[in-house]
Amino acid sequence: MSGIDSILTETRVFPPSDEFRINANISGMDAYNTLCEQAASDYEGFWGKQAKENITWFKPFTKVLNESNAPFYKWFEDGELNVSYNCIDRHLPLLANKLAIIFESDNGTVTRITYMELYRRVCQFANGLKSMGITRGDRVVIYMPMSIEAVVAMQACARIGAIHSVVFGGFSGKSLQERIIDAKARVVVTANEGVRGGKLVPLKSVVDEALDGGGCECVERVIVFKRAVHEDAPWTIGRDVWWHDFIKGKPEHCEPTPVNAEDPLFILYTSGSTGKPKGVQHSSAGYLLGAINTMRWTFDYKPSDIFWCTADVGWITGHTYVGYGPLAVGATQVIFEGVPTYPDAGRFWKMIEQHRVSVFYTAPTAIRSLIKLGADIPEQYDLSSLRLLGTVGEPINPEAWMWYYEKVGGGRCPIADTWWQTETGSHMLAPMPGAVPTKPGSCTLPLPGIMADIVDEAGFPVEAGKGGFLVIKRPFPSQVRTLWNDPERFKKSYFPEEYNNKYYLAGDSAHRDEQGYFWIMGRIDDVLNVSGHRLGTMEIESALVANPLVAEAAVVGKPHEIKGESVVAFVVLKGPRPSGEEAKKITANLREWVGSEIGALAKPDEIRYGDNLPKTRSGKIMRRLLRAVAKGEEITQDISTLENPTILKQLQETL
Ligand code: ATP
Ligand code: MG
Repeated sequence: MSGIDSILTETRVFPPSDEFRINANISGMDAYNTLCEQAASDYEGFWGKQAKENITWFKPFTKVLNESNAPFYKWFEDGELNVSYNCIDRHLPLLANKLAIIFESDNGTVTRITYMELYRRVCQFANGLKSMGITRGDRVVIYMPMSIEAVVAMQACARIGAIHSVVFGGFSGKSLQERIIDAKARVVVTANEGVRGGKLVPLKSVVDEALDGGGCECVERVIVFKRAVHEDAPWTIGRDVWWHDFIKGKPEHCEPTPVNAEDPLFILYTSGSTGKPKGVQHSSAGYLLGAINTMRWTFDYKPSDIFWCTADVGWITGHTYVGYGPLAVGATQVIFEGVPTYPDAGRFWKMIEQHRVSVFYTAPTAIRSLIKLGADIPEQYDLSSLRLLGTVGEPINPEAWMWYYEKVGGGRCPIADTWWQTETGSHMLAPMPGAVPTKPGSCTLPLPGIMADIVDEAGFPVEAGKGGFLVIKRPFPSQVRTLWNDPERFKKSYFPEEYNNKYYLAGDSAHRDEQGYFWIMGRIDDVLNVSGHRLGTMEIESALVANPLVAEAAVVGKPHEIKGESVVAFVVLKGPRPSGEEAKKITANLREWVGSEIGALAKPDEIRYGDNLPKTRSGKIMRRLLRAVAKGEEITQDISTLENPTILKQLQETL
């Protein structure tokens, strides 16, 4: 296969303001280039220095990288540390009274805790785990709502060297059961229920369903945090214990257990956009280093910042930029229990105003849904505290980027479009915002020490403007170490033979422009083949979203006798879902629009309208399901991570 064609052109460029650049941690392109050159000329020296400077070690490492058992790489392998110590204890001499977490509940109640208070809570919970014999290497499943306690549970595991596996609190009993069994968890930490958008989310009863489903005999205890709505929960005496009883009388000090740099910190199952979720295993030191570096590099972290990442702790973004990164640098962060649309579509902006948030990080899906609900809503709030914005999770369409930049950032805040994955642990491609000018829809350039490239099937770099496979050519500290229980799948999925088992294959297609900027075009599995042209999904979708009528769009291919594949678009309008003659008219307009935006080749042959699109619980469009819908097939695939199954029916009906 030759490559993937790029058809979208985007020429707007936004350099940081002088003020932003002058005050930035990495200020100007020279500073960025110097770091990249250091990494290129002495790779291990570069990473060794980063690890020494950013992590507090109990026992310093003497070796940086061990590649002898590739692709099972080891970093800093003879060093010892404790991640929770790095996130809390080391700040106490100076920052004991600094706010660590500003927690806002679904109904707007705010709880603030300092680093000292966080320390006490983490120690107590860690002592509780210890007293029931949980030790280094044991697995703890966390199935919690967004809460201070979710972070406390993660940090407490890290403190005693236990391995957590956080499962998003929206998953079904069956998905939870599979993950508990795969991880062989000794403990499940949960809450009686959660509250999101004014609605109760059952948690404890789902845990019971999971445990009753069989195969979970490994679970000795279920610890239940009381989210004060209902006073009780379904209960199994002897196994279940309330959180407050579990920590009662436990000392507020717990020595952090020194662990090896390569000890697993956690297992996290991927969101399942492309197939069966994978149990991604992360290390302690390398992962922590990625989190710290990117807080400083991408988020330009300053001690005065109020940082807010809206991701749930059930996703990698909520691990690195809620559970670990902000704490490891001593930041004050906002944690939010609810949803962006409750009680109305101004909730995010109201919270930014109230808590004086300076760095805000969210997903394109949230941005697009808020645009649909009213493009001018942010104007009603004082967003002047913001200085930097970020996005993650999917490609952001240039028009959504422009809205975010102008309406939310007031034209003053750089946007860090961060490309990374559960498997990479921290940002890979993202602007250092005080150095790298941004372009709407591009995740810009690799961070220092990340040897990203775009190659063809044989592993040769493709020229500018040509699409190809996104790879990372050298191991980096925060990368996945293996797939839990499945080292073979690990090798096969990420280090294919075509590249001599050497390059990390991300699974995304991308192209680079003349300035070397990376543009993600979509998943490799989603590439369309239209009349011999291989097209990424992202570009046609962006063209559709640029139309004033369109809120969201997903594009897939459907076999076509002559063209190879025809383009089928699934579209959500900003207004109501059209039907009949009106739908026909809009379809004709949108086809013309795409034709004039990017070319006749990309014109959708068929457009279907829905009230929404099928998404994973992390908000990503599931194109593999849409492909089946487009072909008129039964859905037989794994839909355990699908958030809104009824939408599939609606899209199937329009046949
Ligand atoms: P699975 O691997 O189970 O299919 P997933 O890939 O959706 O699930 P994640 O690790 O949460 O699980 O998501 C990583 C993917 O999200 C990337 O491979 C990429 O496709 C997409 N992505 C993340 N950030 C960006 C971004 N800034 N621009 C474009 N795509 C992004
Ligand atoms: Mg993936």
